[in-house]
Amino acid sequence: MAPSSGPDSWPFGGEGDGQVTAQWAGGPRREVLLIVSVDTEEDNWRPARDGITVENIREVRRLSRYLDRLGVATTYFTTYQVAIRPWAVDILREASEGGGTEIGAHLHPWNTPPLEEALLPRNSMMKNLPAELQLAKLRRLTTTLTDAFGTPPTAFRAGRFGLDRDTVPALASCGYQVDSSVTPFVSWEATDDGPSFVGAPLDAYRIGVRRDVTIPQPGGPLLEIPLTCGYTRFRSARWRTLHQVLHAPPSRALHLAGVASRLRVAKLTILTPEAESVRDMLALTRGALEGGVRHLQLFFHSPSLQPGLTPWITTAADVDRLYAAIARYVDGLSKMASVRCATISEARVALWFGEGKGEREGEPRAIAGSRGP
Ligand SMILES: [Zn+2]
Repeated sequence: MAPSSGPDSWPFGGEGDGQVTAQWAGGPRREVLLIVSVDTEEDNWRPARDGITVENIREVRRLSRYLDRLGVATTYFTTYQVAIRPWAVDILREASEGGGTEIGAHLHPWNTPPLEEALLPRNSMMKNLPAELQLAKLRRLTTTLTDAFGTPPTAFRAGRFGLDRDTVPALASCGYQVDSSVTPFVSWEATDDGPSFVGAPLDAYRIGVRRDVTIPQPGGPLLEIPLTCGYTRFRSARWRTLHQVLHAPPSRALHLAGVASRLRVAKLTILTPEAESVRDMLALTRGALEGGVRHLQLFFHSPSLQPGLTPWITTAADVDRLYAAIARYVDGLSKMASVRCATISEARVALWFGEGKGEREGEPRAIAGSRGP
């Protein structure tokens, strides 16, 4: 069963050959929501408290012009260190002027007051801090963003995806309605004792107070809108079984997941143009669409807009490639499905309240160049 003998022996049958087709072959064209989110944060890639700069925020001007031209909506999950600098806030406000944008909250615990904890790798994960300290930092971030932008943020993403059950009560008490920290199929346990989101749904679901955030809790106070993560092969309904096969103890000993990835049989992929090729992003997307997902979320970090700040972007040409990858992805996606674009809170309304039910705060807009059914 090892994929080293070739895809033909792979236990998942012949569907999904990893090739990106020009037209989605999964049946009638269907609609999908596209959310583009940017972790809008300081230049310092490694957790730091001193020497903080936010020069990359100047690049948001170029980004917002570019994304406006593509017709996509943008959610800026913004950190405390950005929100305390008036010139950076001005740039984000300017980017928000035309509509189609949202300012969410992004908590980097290591430099969001109160700074009561030691600056240690494990403490960079919000979930590893005492519940009272999580709440205190979240309150500080929320009031700072409210003062800076004039309205309280209602959407949240934890820095380093460091969310777990104890974070949910803090979010609920600070008025948040949406979280977007869950990366399905991905475990961060080996990264400074982060969370595991293996088993989490790909579609939006409710999360509960002090309940496992990977398990839907009907009636829970927040809607989780996960990032888009999964495999570059097979429809998403099969990804759980694939994940189990690749990560079962004998597979781990054989490093099967790595072998499968190198052989391009099936690669665990997060929908981000920073680290992934357009081909892999579209292959992931195809499987997700065939499995029936209702939203896709493309994400990246604002420091990637400036060369030399993140591990993936070293030169100006890398930045240009990042921009081009976003456009190529949007173009490829619009050939697979009828795409509507939404900020994270617009997506909350569209995904949760559905067709005409409940509140309608903002209508997701058709993407530029999107072809209707
Ligand atoms: Zn971050």
